[in-house]
Order: sequence, then C-alpha cells, then structure tokens
Amino acid sequence: MHKAKACVVGCIDFRFREATDNFLNSQPWADSYDLISVAGSSRDFIKPMQDSHGDYAWLQLELSIKLHEPDLVVFVDHQDCGGYAQDGTIPGGLGVDEDRTKHSEMLEQLKLKLLEKYPKLLCRFYHIDFDGGVKELLV
Ligand SMILES: [Zn+2]
Repeated sequence: MHKAKACVVGCIDFRFREATDNFLNSQPWADSYDLISVAGSSRDFIKPMQDSHGDYAWLQLELSIKLHEPDLVVFVDHQDCGGYAQDGTIPGGLGVDEDRTKHSEMLEQLKLKLLEKYPKLLCRFYHIDFDGGVKELLV
C-alpha cells in the first residue's frame, strides 16, 4: 500500500490553477497528496446536478481513502465557481465575502456527510479568491 499524506479535491477552473498550486505547494503534505479535480470542487459531493455525478465524486474519494489512506482530506473551493453557478446554487459574480459565506453553508453540509461516512477523517476546507487569497472555512 502506498500511503498519501493528503487527498485534495479541487475545481478544474484554469483561472485558479496558479493560486491553487501555490497554496498546495506551501502545505506540509505537498510532497504526497492525491488530487481529485472536478468541476465545482465540493459541489457534487453535496448537491450534484444528477445523482450519477455525486456517485462518481464520492467514488473517487473512496478510492483515494481505500488505496492511499490519506491522513487528511482537503477541499479547495473558489470564488465565481461555474460548477456551483450551473443552477444558481451559488451564483457567479458575487463579492468575495458573500461567496465565502455561501461556500461555508455548503461545506457545512459536506462536513456532516463526510463525518457520517468517515467518523475519524480529518478534513479541511479552503476558499480561494480572484486575488489568490486563501481562507480556511469552518474553523
Ligand atoms: Zn470552479
């Protein structure tokens, strides 16, 4: 078994790639993490547009946990996320504070689901803004 220090779930959005990579590379577990990239990052784990989207997202996380036993699971959401804006769950174009508040509401639900499924799992939640600012949510 190959053990990972972390599993990261992030969005596909190219606009946040540099800021996301800078953040991930600054972490103590940067030398060993699984990476799950899915449009909307946390979205499909909480409120998928179709059930199959949620099943797929959860399967990827399950496989990371099963295959690599990460010590920590990290979700990285971002401002103006098209994945969340598809149906207006979190509309695009919000200011950073309002965007973070809405992500926090969603991530709160995700945290409950995660702990229900994996009671011992350590998880952290972050939000990146257009200026590359990273804020930890739910702390
Ligand atoms: Zn996104």
